[in-house]
Order: sequence, then C-alpha cells, then structure tokens
Amino acid sequence: MVFRTSYHRLAAVLAVLGVAACATPRADWPLDRQASAERMRADVETLASDAFGGREAGTPGFQKAAAYVEAAFRQMGLTPGGTRGYRQPVPLRRAMADPQGAAMAIIKDGTPQPLGLMDDFAMLAGRIAEEVTVTAPMVFVGHGIDAPSLGYTAYQDHDVSGKIVALLPGVPPGLPSEERAHFSNPETKRATAARHGAVGIIGLSSVRGTTESGRAALARSVALADDIVAYKDGRKAVIDASALMTSAGTDKLLAAAGVDPDAVFAAKPALGPLGVTLSMTAKTSYTDYKSPNIIGMIEGSDPVLKDEYVVLTAHLDHIGRLTSVQRGVDVINNGAMDNATGTATLLEEARRFVGAEERPKRSILFLALTAEEKGLLGSEYFVHHPTVPREAMVANVNLDMPIALFDFVDVIAFGAQHSSLKETTATAAAKLDVALSPDPVPEQALFVRSDHYNFVKKGIPSVFLFFGFGNGGDDVFSDFMVTHYHRPSDEIGLPIRYDVAAKFAELNYLIASEIANAPDRPRWNEDSLFGTLFAPLAEEGAPSPGM
Ligand SMILES: [Zn+2]
Repeated sequence: MVFRTSYHRLAAVLAVLGVAACATPRADWPLDRQASAERMRADVETLASDAFGGREAGTPGFQKAAAYVEAAFRQMGLTPGGTRGYRQPVPLRRAMADPQGAAMAIIKDGTPQPLGLMDDFAMLAGRIAEEVTVTAPMVFVGHGIDAPSLGYTAYQDHDVSGKIVALLPGVPPGLPSEERAHFSNPETKRATAARHGAVGIIGLSSVRGTTESGRAALARSVALADDIVAYKDGRKAVIDASALMTSAGTDKLLAAAGVDPDAVFAAKPALGPLGVTLSMTAKTSYTDYKSPNIIGMIEGSDPVLKDEYVVLTAHLDHIGRLTSVQRGVDVINNGAMDNATGTATLLEEARRFVGAEERPKRSILFLALTAEEKGLLGSEYFVHHPTVPREAMVANVNLDMPIALFDFVDVIAFGAQHSSLKETTATAAAKLDVALSPDPVPEQALFVRSDHYNFVKKGIPSVFLFFGFGNGGDDVFSDFMVTHYHRPSDEIGLPIRYDVAAKFAELNYLIASEIANAPDRPRWNEDSLFGTLFAPLAEEGAPSPGM
C-alpha cells in the first residue's frame, strides 16, 4: 500500500503466447485450508525476514525477493510471462530536486518580482529535464478536475495550453469514495493539466489564518525525491515544472492578480486567466536504476478463451530500511502485512490453479510487481508495456495488505461496483460467508493507493479486496495504521492468523476462477464514471488520461 499522497504530500513481448507450454496439473497442492496456511506462513516468514532487508525496489533485498518468487513460479511449472523469462525489467528514475537551483518570480510590467524559496514556494523535482525554466501566464482551474459529466468544465472553458495552471488541493465535498480518491490524486491533477498542454502547475495553499509558519508546513509536506518510470519513448504526459505554495506565497500570487483570496477559496470560485505571468525554474538530478516485475502464466484450456487473460497482482516490494540509524534500533521495515501476505496470497492462488483438476478456460497472469511503494510504478510500466495484448486482459484482481490479524467477516471490494465484478465478488464471498461492505474510510483514498488503479486507468475492470470492519476489523485497521503501517514493527512477530490468510487466498481464488471460466468477460457498468472515462481508451490502445 503506497503512502497517501495529496497535493500537499507529493510526494515484444508475446513470446509466451507462442510457446504455450502449459502448467502440468499436480495433486500435491490440495484445496485444504490448513495446508494452505502452512505454505503461506513459509512464504511470509521468508519474504518478511531481515535477510530480505525490507524489499525496497532497486536494492539487493528486493532482488532476493524477486528470485524467491521466480523460483516458486518455476517450481510450480508456470510459464514464464516476462520479457526475459519470468522477468520484466522496469526502468526507474529517482528525481531529486535541488532547492538551490529553484526560483520563482511574478513578472509584472516586464520586471520579475522574486518569491522566497520555502517562505513562499517549494519547487518539486522536474520529470522532463534536469534544468527547466518556464515563463507563462497563469490560469486558475479550481480543483483541477476535468469531468464535464460531473459539472467540472474548467479545462473546457479555458485554454491552458502553454500556460501555468494554479489549482486548489483536494476535491469539493460530495463525491463518492472512489471518484474522490481519483480526482484528489495529485498524479491525476498533473496528468490532466499535462494532457491539456499546460507547462507548469502551482498548488495553492488552502490553509488560511494559520499561526504556524508556512515555511514549516511546507518543509514538512514536500518530498524532494520523486521516483518515476524512466520511459524511453517519452510518451507519458508530464508537466515541465511543478511547485507548491505556502499561504504567504498564495496570498502574493493572488494579490498580484488582484483577486480576493476569500473568493478563490469560496465554494464556486471564478475560474480562468489570472492576468499574471509567472516564471518557474527547477533544477533536478536524476539517478536511473532497474527493478523487475516477476510474471508467471497458466495457459487457459479453452481454444478461444485462452487468448484472454485474468491478471492477478501483488506488489512484492516494500520500503526498505529506515535512513536514520540509531544503535540498537530495528531499522528494517519488513513489510509482513505490506505486502508479504499479499504476495503469499498470489503464490497460493497460483498453487491452487496449478493443483486444480481442470485448468481455467482463460489464461491467468500472476504478477509480483515492483516499486508499488514508490508510486505504483511497476504496474504503471506493465500497463504501458504489457507482455500480453492490452485488450486481451479482461480483469485485474489485486492483492495488497491483507491485515491478517483477525478473522474478517466482510470485505470492501474496491473498484468492483463499477463493473460486473461486483456480482462475481459477492457470489464468491457468499460461499465463504463473507459480506461486501461500503468503504468505511473514504478519507484514506485507498482506491488510488494500490496497483489495480493503473489497470482501471487503462480501462480494465478491476477489483481489490480489503478486509472489512466487521468482527473487530475497525480496531485492527486503526491500530495497524497508527502503530505498524510503514514501520519496522510490521513484521512476523505480529500475531498473524495464517488460517485467515488462507481464507483470503481461497476467496480471491474463487473470484479469479469465476472470471476465468465465465462465458463473458467482465463489463463496466454503463453509468460508471471510470468505465466512461477509460474503457474506450483500452479499445483504442491510446495512452490513458489518468497517466
Ligand atoms: Zn505500503
């Protein structure tokens, strides 16, 4: 599960199709929950051991984890589904902002009026070039949402091409959980602005009348490092320069525009050109590295449907070691729940498919993804460079952070209500006496915080099950998030219920088999905003607007 981001915490391929070496069904992985629990215990205890160093993408610890999963896929007899055997190397880039090289100025009557670094603004790492300067008029686009069907038409009403957009953080109240998570995501805002041709983006501060210095708030919220996929073809829509403002900097910009701040932060602010030209300069240093997705496949048994794929995903990486080293302090973020349990679920599902009496009709892809914790990067790369045809991927079932510390009785099926997967999920869950519940914590924006989100943005119906709040789940969730999430104590010393993990694997296996064997592929609901936004793109193979 990737850390929550907000605008204020910005944080070939087809060889496998031809070879068709199918997995040989074996009888030694029976559908027995006790045996399943023991296999998952072995996986979790290995992946979350100190020897794997917290599995950060790009580190030797992740390489060990990748080798472990690769060996498991091989031992099960899965067909290699990567570009190099089971591997799909992902080119990654760490972009580090250099504050010394950052500058911003309001241009008035041809004269630059400089703004103060950290007092007024922070420049984020550049994603296009190591040195960049843009000088352009500013356009205010409200919350930066482009969704005419919801009444957000700023990008239709105002031309932002070649301009710098200024926007507010978050979203207005009233959107459902998943729409809220999507449109408040800073990556969505950046991509939307880029798609409309903007060259710069300015995040205004909505904090008013605070006694805390804006500098302190900004210093706390800005990350200088920004990990991205290092695309060679440069097709990802990106913005030249991005900055966040303090409330003082926001006031200066608005004063220069002659705009009353209260009007901007009102419910229905006036959108459009601000009559101010801004100059932004960013300096960034790049470090490139690689880390693989690990991909295995079971070929479907049906002569026609085998050319379609159900894609099961779990991120294999975690966040590695703490950087501040104190003697005698545990510095390894083992990521037992995040996401050794999810990876163990993926492996157990693979064993079940391999051990089943009949192969599924459709083919199944098993993806252990890299760099999820760095911003869903392994899945982003995979959906841009899939190892099977994009339109042949009928669904994604994602596994992330099953907090297997209590016996869940309900699940939140993120993404499912947008497609026929809701019914598929409900039917499978009912077999295990598990109910579906609405999202109890929309403010956590869980929907955009794991890898299924990249599949959704490519028009692929997806479901991501999260343990519900019944049977004490609410207390377990809040305690886990406060005490263990992204900390060294997310480790195998926790009272892990492997029997519950096995039940979760069984549930996801039932869902995946149902999708794999159904006569029809999953369909978006006609009224789904995501289906409307993204499904046509999957057919055209065009880049997703959400990227
Ligand atoms: Zn995480």
